[in-house]
Amino acid sequence: MDVLIATKLSQNTTDKTSYTAFRNLKDEFGGWEDVMTAPLSRIKNAIKVCGLSNTKAVQIKKMLENIKNEHGSLTLVHLRKLSDNEVYDELLKHKGIGKKTVSCLLAFGLGRDVFPVDTHVHRVLNRIGLVDTKTPEETFEAAKFIVPDKFKVNFHTNLIRFGRNVCKAVRPLCYECMVINLCSFNQKNLSVNSGLKTAAENNFIILEKI
Ligand code: SF4
Repeated sequence: MDVLIATKLSQNTTDKTSYTAFRNLKDEFGGWEDVMTAPLSRIKNAIKVCGLSNTKAVQIKKMLENIKNEHGSLTLVHLRKLSDNEVYDELLKHKGIGKKTVSCLLAFGLGRDVFPVDTHVHRVLNRIGLVDTKTPEETFEAAKFIVPDKFKVNFHTNLIRFGRNVCKAVRPLCYECMVINLCSFNQKNLSVNSGLKTAAENNFIILEKI
C-alpha cells in the first residue's frame, strides 16, 4: 500500500515534493485506516506540498474505501498471488490509477520484472532510437520486448536519472553524453554554451525510499 500511495502522490510532480507529502501522511496519521476515515480537508492539507493535491486526496481516500470494502482490510498482500495482468485488472479499476502507477507497484512493491515508462523513459528511448513511438503507453508496450527481464527495473531508474540530468527535455547535454555514438537523435545539442554546462545531479527517486 505504501508503494501504491507514494506512486499516486508522485503523479505530475517531483519525487522530492511527493516524498514530503508521503512522509506527512505517514507521520500525521496512525496508518492507512486513519487516512481513509479522516476528513478530506485533513488529507488535502497533509499533501498540499505536492501538485494536484485536491484531486489526489479525493482519489486516495476513495481508493482506500474501495479496497477496504472489497477485501475487508487495507492490505494488498493478496496481489502477491496474482499474475501481472491480474494485478493490472485489479488496480486499474480505481480512479486516478493508470498503467504507469500499476507498473511501479509491480516493479517496486512486488519485485516483478516490469519496465515502467514515464516521460523521461519515453523521451530517451525515442531519441536514442530504441523505439519509435508517440506516447509513453506505446513505449511501454514496445519496450516489453526490447528490455531483458533482469534489467527492467534498474534500466528504468537509470533512464530516469539520465533523462533528468543529461538527456533533458530541453537542451539535452549531448556534448557530455556517454552514449552519443549510439544515439540517433538528429537535433543533438553540441553547443556547450547553449545551456547548463555540466549535468547537475537530480537523482532522488521516491520509490527507492519507500
Ligand atoms: S546524445 Fe543527446 S539526445 Fe542522444 S541520448 Fe545523449 S543527451 Fe540524449
